Amino acid sequence: MPAEIISGTENARQIREELKEEIAELKEKYNLVPGLATILVGEDPASQVYVGQKEKTSQALGIYSARYDLPAETSEEELLNLIDKLNKDQKIHGILVQLPLPKHINETNVLYAIDPKKDVDGFHPVNVGKLMIGEPDFLPCTPHGIQQLLLRSGIKIDGAEVVVVGRSNIVGKPIANILLQKKEGANATVTICHTGTRDISFHTKRADIIIVAAGKPKALTADMVKEGVVVIDVGVNRIGKSESGKDILVGDVDFEAVKEKARAITPVPGGVGPMTITMLMLNTLKAAKLAAGLA
Ligand code: NAP
Repeated sequence: MPAEIISGTENARQIREELKEEIAELKEKYNLVPGLATILVGEDPASQVYVGQKEKTSQALGIYSARYDLPAETSEEELLNLIDKLNKDQKIHGILVQLPLPKHINETNVLYAIDPKKDVDGFHPVNVGKLMIGEPDFLPCTPHGIQQLLLRSGIKIDGAEVVVVGRSNIVGKPIANILLQKKEGANATVTICHTGTRDISFHTKRADIIIVAAGKPKALTADMVKEGVVVIDVGVNRIGKSESGKDILVGDVDFEAVKEKARAITPVPGGVGPMTITMLMLNTLKAAKLAAGLA
């Protein structure tokens, strides 16, 4: 039987409705408006689209949005000065620096400069450490979106064999960390595969849930999975342009073949992507509540 398609678009829409209500309530009861600053350095077209989506979503939910589009020649010092200013700005509860940054700017210095209490991406080492010990303030957006997709689709994580393909700091490692915590909505047995893994199929074939974040089209094919598996495809790969000039996007999973064996699967686009931005909004709301002592 073909798989259930887990819609990130629909799940994100529902969560955004919930957030919108909570944000309106916060304003009415406490006159508190969550504020998100987005910083884009340079003119990378994909980054411009991502920042535009974040700004639009913030505004639609009632979040105050401050957007900083800086020229590609911006120095690291200038960027750090802006972050310092935003760290002190009481209207701003979350700061998001769009990655990647131009090569002359040290990404680590920039991410470390953001006040951990405003680190709504969850990339600061303080927040990475808090996640590791099971006491997170902010869960990183894409991994949190994945967990929510599984939970809201009624997929049992507790006790499941989960295989994550990819070990990046923004997807692979944090989703593994979230799902292995001894907590409700987690408590899985997690294996992480990467390019050094001897036999990836050995692991994926026994998985109940596979999360693929490799950045390679068809990194997961039908012969690598068992019947009834749940597959979350994080990958976003641009493989060309349509006649109308739009990017053609595919994920990391051979969707058409794998969906014939899977119980449930996310599409690309319309899967993990919309959840990522939604979780950024959730973190901004949480940052505002934490700052006001309401969380
Ligand atoms: P990344 O930093 O390039 O990491 C890719 C990871 O996958 C690495 O750990 C790499 O192993 C591993 N890998 C690559 N090819 C593999 C293969 N054939 N078999 C097994 N492991 C393999 O990428 P990322 O930032 O995690 O992103 C992964 C994908 O998700 C990208 O397509 C990205 O665009 C997408 N993404 C989507 C969202 C969203 O919101 N939808 C958010 C973030 C990322 P090594 O460590 O050994 O090199």
